[in-house]
Amino acid sequence: MSTTLASELYPEVKAFLEGGPLKGIVGGNEVEANSGETFVTSDPGSGKQLAEVFSFQAADVDMAVDVADAAFRKTGWAQLPQNERSALLHRLADAVEKHKPMIAQLESLDAGKIEAQAQGDVQNFVDTMRYFADLAQHVQRRSVLAVPNHEAWTVRQPYGACGFIFPWNFPFLLIGWGIAPALAAGNTVVIKPAEDTPMSAIYLARLAKEVGIPDGVINVVPGLGSVAGAALSANPKLKRMSFTGSPEVGRLVAESCGRNLVPVKLELGGKGAAVVFNDVDIPDTAEKLVNAITFHTGQVCCDATRWLVHKNIYDEFVNECVGRLKKVQVGYQLDDASQMGPVVNEKQHKRVLSYLEKGQAEGAECVLEGGAAKVEGYNGYYVKPALLAGSLDNVAAREEIFGPVAYLAPFETEEQAIEMTNATDYGLANSVWSSDLSRAARVAEAMCAGNSWINAHNVFAHGVPYAGINKSGMGGGVLSVETLFDYWRSLSVVRPL
Ligand code: NAD
Repeated sequence: MSTTLASELYPEVKAFLEGGPLKGIVGGNEVEANSGETFVTSDPGSGKQLAEVFSFQAADVDMAVDVADAAFRKTGWAQLPQNERSALLHRLADAVEKHKPMIAQLESLDAGKIEAQAQGDVQNFVDTMRYFADLAQHVQRRSVLAVPNHEAWTVRQPYGACGFIFPWNFPFLLIGWGIAPALAAGNTVVIKPAEDTPMSAIYLARLAKEVGIPDGVINVVPGLGSVAGAALSANPKLKRMSFTGSPEVGRLVAESCGRNLVPVKLELGGKGAAVVFNDVDIPDTAEKLVNAITFHTGQVCCDATRWLVHKNIYDEFVNECVGRLKKVQVGYQLDDASQMGPVVNEKQHKRVLSYLEKGQAEGAECVLEGGAAKVEGYNGYYVKPALLAGSLDNVAAREEIFGPVAYLAPFETEEQAIEMTNATDYGLANSVWSSDLSRAARVAEAMCAGNSWINAHNVFAHGVPYAGINKSGMGGGVLSVETLFDYWRSLSVVRPL
């Protein structure tokens, strides 16, 4: 077994970890929390402490918003010709790409992500930054309106200082999805990374300074959600807010923003379904769904966590899945042989195990036991993949587990499959699997979710909107042309001819 030991960490990663306690980045400076308080970020695969990080309190966060606000008004970032602003964002993308192995290893350590998957996340950040930097150069910021006897036009202006709160499951990738359109549109940003995974955000802000992004345009305020996150979402000087995380916290953030009339974009959880018809290639479909549920140990908001399978192929399909899931190699995230790393922390570990218990207590059949896993030499938060089956009223079929657990149920008709898919308050992502593409398209269009895939799951493309509806989010989503427009206000000017 080939293992990347701590001694094999990249020198840059070692230097980063040894340079702690890690500071926030405000106005281009490395800044300590005024109180001196810190929190610890740990490696979920080994349980070992990675770094101490300054824990920003409300006053520290408010100061960062002041700095982002001043940077918007005084650095000329918003007034830069678009090609110059885009060129700077390309330089940031280039720097991130150059440091990809190092950033990916940092992210892998902090989030428990398989290193190759973390590399994919970093590349996705680069692609997102380049996409919005280019897109912003091709969009008219001014458009003429047809008004009788008047000259009238719309002008698009950036908002100002925008707040971003991110979760721990895709720390670096989601920062790209969030801030790339905001920056390309000329806004400044204050980023609150999750307390489990603050490292890559801090590294990014250091790189931004190196490539010449003006001080104060990208600020990072590490800290606890209930303190730093709450302060950021309650700050009245913010002009926009974007939150990615759980519906429970999303509601709190939206309430705070509502009090200040700050527009808010929410990207929340999901309980996606995969509808598998009886004309699929069974081994191929099983393989793809097993890959989806085990990717990043099932800690993926848009995962297919309810597998609705036509009754005629149900037993065969389930057997195929069980065989594959049993072979998934659970292991330390920097070990090349590992296919599935740990979950992010003890709370998440308990959460996954508790849903297995609660689901069975409510009558779910245990198809594949799952549960806690041991990885020799590593005292981390490991779990095995699990399959439950039964009524969709079950707690494990209704609530987001955020682990490698899928819930199976058979269906008979197309209408029934659609009804079962839509029997949830969430509306993030589903997939339909069938060799009859017209049926697949019909079913995909009837699914109540922001995103539907046909014969695939978890596929993203720049330019295609990714958004949750119902309890999965509001505010238009990310990744599309419209996302860029979300970060401009449209103002009109009218004068008589
Ligand atoms: P979480 O809601 O617990 O935390 C998210 C962020 O909010 C963290 O930075 C946290 O520090 C902060 N926070 C916590 N309490 C806060 C408060 N009172 N005020 C302001 N901020 C606060 O979510 P999580 O456990 O980090 O992430 C998992 C959730 O994120 C899942 O529900 C998942 O589906 C969702 N998610 C959604 C998307 C999407 O694009 N729709 C993407 C990734 C994750």
